[in-house]
Amino acid sequence: MIHAKYHFPDNFLWGTATSSHQVEGQNDNNDWWAWEHQPDRILHNQKSGNACDWWNGRWKEDFDRAAEDGQNSHRLSIEWSRIEPGPALWDDDALAYYSEILQGALDRGLVPMVTLHHFTNPLWISERGGWENPETVKYFERYVHKVVSVLKEFVRLWVTINEPNVYMYESYGSGMFPPGKKDIKSWPHVARNLIRGHAAAYHAIHSLQEDALVGVAHHYRGFRPANARNPIERMMVRVRSRTFNNLFARAFTDGHMRLLHWRDRIPEAKKSQDYLGLNYYTVEEFGFDPMNPGSFFREGVLPESAEKSPTGFIANIPEGMRIALKWARAFGLPIYVTENGIEDKGDTIRPGYLLRHLLEVWKAANMNWQVKGYYHWSLVDNFEWDRGWTQRFGLWELDRVSQKRTRRPSSELYAEICKTNSISSDCVRRFAPQISDDLFPPKGPAELSDRE
Ligand code: BGC
Repeated sequence: MIHAKYHFPDNFLWGTATSSHQVEGQNDNNDWWAWEHQPDRILHNQKSGNACDWWNGRWKEDFDRAAEDGQNSHRLSIEWSRIEPGPALWDDDALAYYSEILQGALDRGLVPMVTLHHFTNPLWISERGGWENPETVKYFERYVHKVVSVLKEFVRLWVTINEPNVYMYESYGSGMFPPGKKDIKSWPHVARNLIRGHAAAYHAIHSLQEDALVGVAHHYRGFRPANARNPIERMMVRVRSRTFNNLFARAFTDGHMRLLHWRDRIPEAKKSQDYLGLNYYTVEEFGFDPMNPGSFFREGVLPESAEKSPTGFIANIPEGMRIALKWARAFGLPIYVTENGIEDKGDTIRPGYLLRHLLEVWKAANMNWQVKGYYHWSLVDNFEWDRGWTQRFGLWELDRVSQKRTRRPSSELYAEICKTNSISSDCVRRFAPQISDDLFPPKGPAELSDRE
């Protein structure tokens, strides 16, 4: 029987990620709260409600769990609508409470990574046209300036905007997120303002904190043609990759916005990332039907042969993580995997998903790619946007009524990985025996046995 380990680099950051609206509860002054209270916006009309009750202090017990389980970092977000409930109206108590939360993280040995915008906007921002309005850029900059001037004492690792591509598509394309528009003509405005908003935040943070590390959590989706030899399907994939995966990451590199036929120069966005934040979950496939030319524009589907999460939201394709890391590496910056995970209430798929995806991270790090950390989504089940509470991403299960947390086996698996900074054959045998021979081939890696 093999006894071996995959070791991660020293000082690797091991964490979980959360966001304010998904865990805090009672965020009643933002556009999502209003959205949840409209009929049929959220699956089964569910609401965030008290969420994981962090604003009442339950972050403490969750941080205890994270720290006891060997994590040394946590990614969380600041709720703009709490800090600035009305234009230039600052809630110092809310800022003080975030200081307490961040000090609480540090006291437990959790290095904080802080996101400044994670999908939600204060109501007064959405009433003024949200990210379609160029003025939002300066409002965002002012808020970032305020937050960072106070919280820089506790934080060095910043994420300005979470998944600007998902935000743009869901809010102005699919219409699943507020303001619920399906209007492609708004995209160039929204994209431009998000790019300028990030750039303004990047420079504001550096003006206050020279040694800050500032980035964006980019959602990378693995797109592939159903038939690799089909040139039309390959083109479908190229269009999606450019508009979804590359739009923001490239603009933050060279200061150019390229969105379908819309072009713009945004010089202040050039070289405006200190690291590349990567959120990777799944792969989508694109098939073209020659009898139906309109199928060129259809949505991707999860590859049929792949193992799926219980509600069919995510396909377990670790190879996609390898491709995502390769994509991230091309920007020449250190990489943090800022999100990766799977909705799996019964925790039957998660252990294998986690191990296989982490092995791809290990391979990258051990080829000396500058992968600095990994944040699993998420620490505890939380409010899953338009899908409400139907999807459970937590390492810990949440009972929303009693607020009781229950360990899932994956939390123990992740704890062993974090505590030992490695993946051991013994741990794989205990938590995911079905993939043990894949991860630790009994005859050693194929390359070696070939040479015998
Ligand atoms: C988002 C999270 C979300 C997760 C799972 C990511 O796109 O940043 O807020 O919970 O996906 O759907």
